[in-house]
Amino acid sequence: MRTPSRLRRRWSAGLVAIGLVACAAEPTVDARRAAPITTTPWIHGVADGATPTDPPIEVRSFGPDTFVLRQSKSVHFEAPFLFLLCGGSRALLLDTGATRDAAKFPLRATVDRLLEERRVARGDDAAPPLIVAHTHAHGDHVAGDRQFQDRPNTTIVGRRAPEVAAFFEFVEWPRDIVTFDLGERELTLLGIPGHEDASIALFDERTGWLLTGDTVYPGRLYVRDWPAFKASIHRLARFARTHDVSWVVGTHVEMSTTPGVDFPMGATYQPNEHPLELAPAVLDELEAALDDAGDTPTRIVRASFIVEPINR
Ligand SMILES: [Zn+2]
Ligand SMILES: [Zn+2]
Repeated sequence: MRTPSRLRRRWSAGLVAIGLVACAAEPTVDARRAAPITTTPWIHGVADGATPTDPPIEVRSFGPDTFVLRQSKSVHFEAPFLFLLCGGSRALLLDTGATRDAAKFPLRATVDRLLEERRVARGDDAAPPLIVAHTHAHGDHVAGDRQFQDRPNTTIVGRRAPEVAAFFEFVEWPRDIVTFDLGERELTLLGIPGHEDASIALFDERTGWLLTGDTVYPGRLYVRDWPAFKASIHRLARFARTHDVSWVVGTHVEMSTTPGVDFPMGATYQPNEHPLELAPAVLDELEAALDDAGDTPTRIVRASFIVEPINR
């Protein structure tokens, strides 16, 4: 039972703590932006034969308006990452995961819950309109679209390059750099075909994250169109050199913490995963490696990525 003197001590301790916080240097905006995304391991599946213990979706929040979601490897080996970015006037869900079935992969319910909790915390009358867009059109990034088809106040952006270009108002795809405002939160988009025709990258000024989908991530970078991929990486690297990018953030992890060593394709258990986020210098490294390879599609192994040309 609390005595009054105990309460007083707790109160005065609280005041001391407040004083310390007030005296300590506030972290700069840059320091907050540079904070790592992967501070502890993400869900990464379970060993063969073990009972799945991961939730179908892991959610991490980065402030009140930014959510990173990871699909469980026990639901689908691709285990993609998804992003929910909220602004003052609308929210963007980037990718819908690898599984259509809401019973196995309750993405819509998860997004609805996050937006409702945010609405209550903000005291808003209504949750913001939701835009559902995609880093690219591959099945492991669009399969959950169907869960949103009948959702009120929701726009699902088409998957093909002309539809993506039209929605985000590219005039000259993919070379334009366009902006998309969520309300006091501006996103900058680049068309980056090469892995897939409709691939885009998004730069979020709030976090400094450059979201690169399957084009750049700590894993196997499958290149279908070599010249287009090279051109896209040149433009991405140039963009990162001229903007305040904190991290390059893709949509899978396939590298281990051992440099240059990836997990087997289709792995459903990935202990000791490489962090999701990559330092922006990875784009310079990738750009230089592609330049060295020239016009010949070439497999390239580096510490945090592997370039894998397909249809060679
Ligand atoms: Zn892909
Ligand atoms: Zn993918």
